[in-house]
Amino acid sequence: MAAASGAGRNPLVPDSLLRIIAGELSVENALKQTAAIASRARYPNSQGFFDAAEYVARRAREYGLGHVRVERFPAPEPMWDAAEASLDVIAPVPEPISALERVPELLAHNSADGDVTAELVDVGRGVSEADYRDKDVRGKVLLATGEPQPVWRAMGPRGARALIAAPTGDFFGRHTPPDAVLWGEAPAHAVVLMVSPRQAGRLRALMRRAPVIVRLHAKAARSEPGALGMVMGEIAGTHLGEDLVIAAHLDHQKPGANDNASGSGTLLELVRTLNHLIVAGKIPKPQRTLRFWWTTEIVSEQAYFRRYPEDARNILLSVVLDQAGGLRNAENNLVIIFNPAWLPSYADDLIENLAESVKDRYAPAEYEPDPLVIARGGSHQSLRTVYWDYQEITDEVAFESRERKIPGIALAVPSLDLIHSNLDTVDRLDPTWMKRTALLTLAAALYVADAGPGHARLHLPARCRPARAKRRCRRRPRLRTRAPRFGAGLGSQTGHDRIPESTVCGSGCSPQPTALTSADG
Ligand SMILES: [Zn+2]
Repeated sequence: MAAASGAGRNPLVPDSLLRIIAGELSVENALKQTAAIASRARYPNSQGFFDAAEYVARRAREYGLGHVRVERFPAPEPMWDAAEASLDVIAPVPEPISALERVPELLAHNSADGDVTAELVDVGRGVSEADYRDKDVRGKVLLATGEPQPVWRAMGPRGARALIAAPTGDFFGRHTPPDAVLWGEAPAHAVVLMVSPRQAGRLRALMRRAPVIVRLHAKAARSEPGALGMVMGEIAGTHLGEDLVIAAHLDHQKPGANDNASGSGTLLELVRTLNHLIVAGKIPKPQRTLRFWWTTEIVSEQAYFRRYPEDARNILLSVVLDQAGGLRNAENNLVIIFNPAWLPSYADDLIENLAESVKDRYAPAEYEPDPLVIARGGSHQSLRTVYWDYQEITDEVAFESRERKIPGIALAVPSLDLIHSNLDTVDRLDPTWMKRTALLTLAAALYVADAGPGHARLHLPARCRPARAKRRCRRRPRLRTRAPRFGAGLGSQTGHDRIPESTVCGSGCSPQPTALTSADG
């Protein structure tokens, strides 16, 4: 039990490896690559995604990644890219409200094209019958604070011509600020523009004085055939059939800096770092192949495994990085999402041990962090860790499925106040957290890539407990957070003093490196 307090924790990943990685890692380059990716709108099934994918593929090749390719999977709809959009008040007094050049989220994703000039009608949230009572919306433009799809459904056959939506983001109990314009999803055949709650407030203020006429301009570029994409490449190892996949989703709206240009840009920097360390002879070539995947979140991996179902057996572990940089001037947490209860794995022990030992040693709450875990221009926060039970929220879903049973490590430093909005910008990332996620991602992957029998002995004392659903073991102490309330975890120091009862780990754990299992017993 002593190990859980931090004092006396036996670090699995040697300090020397952390220092070697940190010595080569360039946070400046990770941020530069993040900015390049964030400058493109990368909606799933869009030309913008494939432009970003080609950029990533070029950089990855340049940094020494082998067998780089952009994989395409058919999508039923044509590709959709925002081309032009603007919103103006025409009467009583002309006033520009928004333009696509300034706000990439203005044109809702998959909006229909249209030029609509009509009277604006405020329907409140616009998602229930009551919101439309005594209102004539036929031929008019709706102003609503609900999400576009439920609003359009509730409007039904009432004949509105277009929608201006101003929802507030609500992610795990955290709300986006009044100036945030959310990434909205348009219902089929509807013209939908997105504005911030503050812009909606301005329109309502005008409507209180006189009827307001607005002009909406919406135009998208569509191209066939539709496709979902994924960039892949590898650093080949000598040990076949036990590969590691390091993944980050490349898709999302522009800028989508933390979610997830940051993870994608960090992966590029990890390729550069790794290759440089190998070429310089500072680390040996990994025994197991390291594959790097830049995905369309969850769906491209699902399509990949449908196309190559047998390949799942070659993958030992996935390491997923989704939101690498947190939010500057906010209190950030490293969130680790554990494997599902039915897929107990050494991976949870490993990442928890790594995160806690780095925290204890280099960035505890009590002291100024060590320069090893601070980046130039970044914060000096302590390394706070939060553990979530399995959540189906990021790429790990495609690996940790009941069909594929590939255990994973999923890391995030979320910025839930700004996620999926125009305010998720590169200048708001915290370089210190970019450095920490880069370090932890590569250290965990390299540890498993080179794990041998000696490593297995280190794992032997791992605590296990019978899972409730099945009599299988979990090899770690864990924080029991019933709901993944990110906000609720902010104040706590993870509750590592609460350790479930230990049992001896028997068989039934998920796939492990043969070297890790062979010394068991
Ligand atoms: Zn994400």
